[in-house]
Amino acid sequence: MRTKLAAGNWKMNGLKADLAEVEALVAAHPSPLCDVLLCPPATLISAMAQVAGASLDVGAQDCHMKGSGAHTGDISAAMIADAGGSHAIVGHSERRADHHESDVMVRAKAEAAIEGGLIAVICVGETESQRDAGETLTIIGNQLKGSLPDHATAANTVVAYEPVWAIGTGRTPTLEQIAEVHDFMRNALVKRFGAEGDGMRLLYGGSVKPSNATEIFAVSNVDGALVGGASLKAADFGAIIAAL
Ligand code: PGA
Repeated sequence: MRTKLAAGNWKMNGLKADLAEVEALVAAHPSPLCDVLLCPPATLISAMAQVAGASLDVGAQDCHMKGSGAHTGDISAAMIADAGGSHAIVGHSERRADHHESDVMVRAKAEAAIEGGLIAVICVGETESQRDAGETLTIIGNQLKGSLPDHATAANTVVAYEPVWAIGTGRTPTLEQIAEVHDFMRNALVKRFGAEGDGMRLLYGGSVKPSNATEIFAVSNVDGALVGGASLKAADFGAIIAAL
């Protein structure tokens, strides 16, 4: 049985004052039935981990592929763990686009995260033009092949399917389209990793909100969600947690 996971990605949002939302979330869901993860900006990892206590996990939105050194502005897996983080999102489409991150880089980052004792949340997803061209499964297959380390396991790796055109747009794929990609990913992961691939959590991400969470979570091989905008407020994210 795969434990469901509700993961929030605050992106470049959140100041210390916003930790009040996390306090409210913890108060409303002190012992959630699913795993809960919040990934704030790096500046808030430490403070959020203190507020989160045992109710939810805290993670980073990126992780450098090296352990230390002359890489201005970057943070390593050891730093994330030291701040109280247990996960790192890698390969989010915004980083693939804004920072030209390739599958090779994403894989190196995932390896660094895992070697540093973190759980890697590895993101894949097609653009709208790729979907329109009928390339979705080819793109997802290539991203999975290129971005997941060979030593990925059910315990150290989570995969998030996030169609680029669904992120922050209010648009979501049909439930059939989500099922098609998630079933495809499950088959590819089982083929490559065997039982470990069967145990890996597969999250859907892109405009998940309280009003669509229940139907998305009922789709086969959807083991939770990676939530952007709707993870910022305790009421919205709490409703998504309750739907899992
Ligand atoms: P969204 O973002 O929920 O705001 O669409 C999802 C994500 O990018 O992880």
